[in-house]
Amino acid sequence: MEEADRRQKHVKAIIFGAPGAGKGTYGSRLKEKLGVEVIATGDIFRELMKDNSELGKKVKGFVEKGLLVPDEVVVEILKQRLSDIPEGKGFILDGFPRTLEQAKTLEGITKIDVILLLDVPDQIIIERLSSRRICRNCGTVYNIRFLKPKVEGLCDKCGGPLYQRSDDNPEVITKRLQVYQEQTEPLLEYYKKKKLPIITATTKRIEQKPEPIVDELIEDLKKQKLA
Ligand code: ADP
Ligand code: ZN
Repeated sequence: MEEADRRQKHVKAIIFGAPGAGKGTYGSRLKEKLGVEVIATGDIFRELMKDNSELGKKVKGFVEKGLLVPDEVVVEILKQRLSDIPEGKGFILDGFPRTLEQAKTLEGITKIDVILLLDVPDQIIIERLSSRRICRNCGTVYNIRFLKPKVEGLCDKCGGPLYQRSDDNPEVITKRLQVYQEQTEPLLEYYKKKKLPIITATTKRIEQKPEPIVDELIEDLKKQKLA
């Protein structure tokens, strides 16, 4: 691609799917390959939870139960992060919007070009979430069964220690899936009605590697002249 051409592409996307569908995994790879920013609300909350601030404690109360953080808190944070993105640069929203209220608010803040929908069977989701590990230092996602780090317990990228998220335990996983089905999944219908383009990547096998899915998403974005 010509340099001038490349500069004109700055996709504004939402990466959408159930907990454990791979939003963070694909989002971080798309970030590198497309040169866009990623705003991941879950990552932002996990950072906040590390310190003992009032806000951190408040957020923790919701996240650790598998409940959604109240819209007004999320929206405020999202607005700030979006305003930090340089004019004209593309971005992917990971974990936002999660409620109809958030989707409506987003419309007043920025235009979205496309939804990247990760379609993953429930069985795979549950298996993945229970064996997921995260780098404490940089947030990179691993899976001790299907996406192992090179050295056990350590991040490939930064050498940081891997840990299991406090919300990746069976009870909270069940709650998060229920919250997703009740509050977040209906957003798909909402965006379909709005005629927003939706690019779907389907995962059929638990051992599926991320790269082919990422390449497929990029191919489809190119077909739609969004990458
Ligand atoms: P996953 O998609 O694997 O469930 P995330 O890292 O995206 O995980 O989110 C973790 C938790 O952070 C959610 O279960 C929820 O408590 C909170 N959270 C993240 N994004 C939002 C949002 N947009 N609205 C409300 N709560 C959110
Ligand atoms: Zn790391």
